[in-house]
Formats: sequence, C-alpha cells, structure tokens
Amino acid sequence: MMVKSGNIMKKINQTYFDLLTDAPWYTYERTVQQVVSQIVCLTDMPYASIVIQKNWNNMHGLIIEEYSPNTTETFRRKCTNQLKGFMNKMNNDMEEELDEKMFTFELNFNKKKQEIFHMIPLKISNITRGYLMCIHEKDRYTKEFMDELRKNTEQLLKTTQWINDNREKNDKNKFLFNLTSELYASTDQTYILQETISALEFIYPNFTYMLLLSQDHDADESLPIQMIEYSDDSTKRVSSDVFISGTTRMEKDEQGAGCLYTPLKGKQGVYGVLQIRVDTGVQLPEQEIQFITLFSNVIGEALENAMLYANSKHMAADLKFINEVTHKLNSNLKLPEIISVLKKQITSICKPTHIGFVFCPNEQYDKRKDIDVLQGSHAYFHTTRGQSFVKHMKDCALEQKSALFKADYQMETIPLPFRSMMSLPMIHADEILGLIIIGHEQSSAFSFGSYKLMRSLVQNTTLALTNSVLKDKLEHAVITDYLTKLYSRGYLDEKIALHMEIDTHGTLVLFDIDDFKHVNDSHGHHIGDQVIIQIASILKENTRENDIAARWGGEELALYLPHASIEEGVRLARRIRKKVESNTNPQVTLSSGVSSWSLMTNHNVKSLFIEADKSLYQAKEQGKNQVVYNV
Ligand code: GH3
Ligand code: MG
Ligand code: MG
Repeated sequence: MMVKSGNIMKKINQTYFDLLTDAPWYTYERTVQQVVSQIVCLTDMPYASIVIQKNWNNMHGLIIEEYSPNTTETFRRKCTNQLKGFMNKMNNDMEEELDEKMFTFELNFNKKKQEIFHMIPLKISNITRGYLMCIHEKDRYTKEFMDELRKNTEQLLKTTQWINDNREKNDKNKFLFNLTSELYASTDQTYILQETISALEFIYPNFTYMLLLSQDHDADESLPIQMIEYSDDSTKRVSSDVFISGTTRMEKDEQGAGCLYTPLKGKQGVYGVLQIRVDTGVQLPEQEIQFITLFSNVIGEALENAMLYANSKHMAADLKFINEVTHKLNSNLKLPEIISVLKKQITSICKPTHIGFVFCPNEQYDKRKDIDVLQGSHAYFHTTRGQSFVKHMKDCALEQKSALFKADYQMETIPLPFRSMMSLPMIHADEILGLIIIGHEQSSAFSFGSYKLMRSLVQNTTLALTNSVLKDKLEHAVITDYLTKLYSRGYLDEKIALHMEIDTHGTLVLFDIDDFKHVNDSHGHHIGDQVIIQIASILKENTRENDIAARWGGEELALYLPHASIEEGVRLARRIRKKVESNTNPQVTLSSGVSSWSLMTNHNVKSLFIEADKSLYQAKEQGKNQVVYNV
C-alpha cells in the first residue's frame, strides 16, 4: 500500500536539518546513528543501515544498523547476514568502481508480505564512500521517494564528513602545536625521539613506522629507531634518496603496502627519514601526507636544536678547558711543571696508555740531535725503537705540516706498543718545534672529538711549551760547563752563597792539575781536554748528590761539600788525588787546597776561595801531588 510519502520526506528533511545544526557538537558516528534511527522511525521501515566504507584511517569502517521495535529476532539475524554478504562483496571488489546505481531486489524473509531490499551507494567525499541499506514493503515507497532519500542523506553525510574532517584537522594541528612547543623546549635528543614515537603511536595507532636516523642515538633499543643505511636494496635506496633530496616520497613495497618516506628536516640539514607503512589498499589522502611532512619537519628541527645545543655546550667547555690550560702554562712554570700540567689534562680527556713529549731542537741550537724526548714521557719513547718511531712521526709532520689521527695504526718497520695514535706537531712559523704523541694499546680508543680538542690544545700551548724548553736548556747551558758537564763557576759561587745563608757549615776543595802545560805540549790540546774530562768523571763518581762539582777555571776544578767538616773534605780530596794518579791517561796528578766555614768563622764566598787557593799554592810549593789545608 502506497503511503503519503510527501509528508514523510518533509519530516525527514526537518530532522536532517536539526542533525546538521547539531553536527559540530556531536561525533560523526553519533550523527550517522541518528540518521539511521530517524529513517526507521519516520518511514516505518523494519530495517535500515549505513555502512561507511573503509576510510584510510579507520580500517574497519563504520557499520550502523537499526531495526524497528516490532521486528523478530529471526528477521534481524537474516538482515545482518544479508549485510555481511554485501560487505564481503564490497571488500573483494575494492579496486573496482562499484556501481553508482541503486541496487534493489525482492526478499523472501516473510511469507506473508513481499519485501524489497535497497542498497543505495552514497558518495560522501573523494575517498569516502558509503551505503544506505533499507527494507520496506513492496510498493510502499516510490522510486522518486528513494531517490530523494538518497540525495538528502548523501548531502547530510557529506556536510557532516566535512565538519568532521575539519575538526580532525584542527585537533591534529593543535596536537602538532603542543608537540612543537614541548619538543623545541627540550635539548635532550633521547627525550625528543621517545616523544616522537609516542606521538606517532597516538595519531596513527594502525600504522607501522620507523625513524631512520643519520647519526647515533642513545634512545631505548626497543623503539623503532634505526640508523639510515646506504645500500642498493630498493627500500633502503628510497630512504637514502629521501634523506639526500629532502623531499617526501610515497612507494609501494614488495607486498604492495604503501610506504611514505618523509625527511626529518631542520633549518640547516636533514637528520633522518620517517618511514610510515600503511596497509594494502589504504590510500593516504594528500592532506594527511602534508600533515606527516609537517610533523617530520617539527622532529627535524627539534633534533637540530638539540644537536646545536650539545655542540655549543661542547664548544664552550672545550674553550674553557683550553683557556685554563694556556693560562696555567703562561704563568711562568718550569718545564717539568708544564709537562705535568699537560700530561694531567691529556690523561683526563684521552685516558691514553702512552704519552710522549718531544722537542725538536733547531740546527742553530744543537747540531748533534734532531729529536729530544723530554722527561715525563712514557719510557717507550726513550727506547731506541721509540726514538725511531718519534723520528718517523717527525718526518711525517714535516711532510704534512698537520696532525695525524689513527684509529688502528700499524707500521711494518717498527712494532708499536699502541694501536690508537695521535701525533700532534707543535708548529710555529712553519717550523716544527716539537711533537706530542698520544697512544692507546687498544684500537679506536680515542674519539674524533677528543682528537680535535687535543689538536687545539697543542696549537694553543706550543709557544708556552717551546719557550720553556728553550729557557730550560739555556739555563742549563749557563749553569753547566760545556766540556765537562760539571757546574759552572758562576753556579758554584751562587750555590755556596746560598748554603752560607741557610747552613751551619761546609767545605770547599780546589784542584789544579800539575804541570798541565807539559801535557798540552807533548800530547796536544785535544788530549789535554780529554784528561780534564777524565778528572771531571772521577769527581762526579766520588761525590754525592748534594755535593757541587764545578769547573772553576781552565784546568782547575772545585768541589763544595755542604755540611762537611774540613777533615771530611780532606779525606775526599785525598781519595780523588789517588784515583787521578792511577786512573788518568796520559797520567797526571793533582794538587789540592781545602778550606771550610762554620758559624764560628767569619767567612764569605770570596774569603773561602782565597783560603783554599792559599793552601793549593802551598801544595804546589811543597812538591805538588798532595792535599794541603790550614785550620
Ligand atoms: P802547575 O803544576 O804549576 O799548575 O803547572 P801548569 O803547567 O799546570 O801551570 P798552570 O796551572 O799555571 O797552567 C795551566 C795551563 O793549562 C795553561 C793552559 O795552556 C792549560 N789549559 C788551561 N785550560 C785548558 C783547557 O781547557 N784545555 C787544555 N788542553 N789546556 C788548558
Ligand atoms: Mg792552573
Ligand atoms: Mg796546573
């Protein structure tokens, strides 16, 4: 029986209008629910349902069914089965364009009444398709009525979908905004990576994703984060292409699933790639791709911030370190102290097993050797092998004029006690003044960062170090005699004066070689020199650490014995006289004069010398080769 469908359509339109007005405040699902129940209620149909086909984001789609209250359980079951049949057909024909036309057939659910089943396709948006299904008694509604119902329902759902899409877009933008402010406030890379993964889990719970990073990270290993790989393998190639080009790409993998690659792009560079894998058949809308690209940029910038911050912190710390060390070194330290400061700093940063400090004397200073391993270096550098290695490193430095950094250094010619090695030449005005060599028994023991720091440390301390080496050498040259390596007369005078200030007593012994003119005359001046050297060695061998053996004049030598009595001085002088007599070649003898001072005598340096010299003169007078003293 035909009903007055005009009134019904009017009521439906009124209801739809109300639903539309309320749509911004309700969920999409609830609006669809209302549509279905209003259709059942207003048209008096026993069954209606709406299926929103697989949306890209909602894998199961939306299925809403409604029955009029007076339907039986059996009827409902049959309807649901009918719907399932259609759903399967729809899923199988996903790729095909489904018929835009209405699909109608007669049902045989009820023997008493003839019923018609309608399946009405609804085109809701470019990518969202829906179906309205309903059942009514044959001839109850005209085709025109059904057409109008389709048109109005489609219109309502279109607008609702649009509102919903905007709402989602809004929510996502808000989410991105919050994420941005949170991530930009952080300088902790690990935190940024963790938050990125939780954000992805929250927005796209149905996708699988992977962060492919260009640099090392400390984040939890269970998180989907990997280092980017460069390879010919097709999927890896896409990710490295995206990394290099910095542009988003969509690819299909072997199983036909879509893969979206977006670059993690900061202002200064690309820091990795976000890979999102979506299920077969799911098509990401353009708008969503744009959102993911934006999301990746946020991550890229946050990572960049954190990296720049870490770098600047490092740089500030490095500058402070170098500043402190150079400051210390420039504060007039002696060479052993400078080396000990450097050694301490190098050790604290590199934890090496070997450090060598090498001075490279220039030709004007010393013609005899081209390298000088300084005290404070590891014993290895004082060995013959160590010295050949140092020479080799010096040659390398001369050739390259730059530092060397090796993670696993091996030489064919010289076996090395270390594998990690850095050689840091001290270069000034194009000249190699020295080298610092840092080694570790194990390979790859030093980071590149520590090498860079060591390089600037050496650059900044070159002058302080070489100045103090030169000063040290110069001082030594002044206080020691070039021929005998005994102390100089000036040094002896200074030291005796110092001892007289702080001690209670001491003894001075003067020696003069007997008839030395004769030695020179018969053997030559050179042999004369050798004899002086022989006597100097006898003096060194027979004195203690605190005694001062000096070359007082040409062939006159002196000994100052702190805290020694005159008797002790005479005993030592006699011993030396004997040794010289029997151990020199050509044989010579010594005459000696001894004097001493104490708090009871009224001596100064000069009078102490005069007194010893007087006794020496006496020894010569009395026939030479003897020790004389006066008390
Ligand atoms: P005397 O026993 O009286 O000391 O006789 P002498 O020949 O040693 O005389 P004197 O001490 O007065 O002369 C020192 C000589 O030693 C003068 C000089 O030719 C020589 N002489 C001084 N210094 C050096 C030196 O560094 N090398 C050499 N080969 N000879 C020196
Ligand atoms: Mg003399
Ligand atoms: Mg003499």
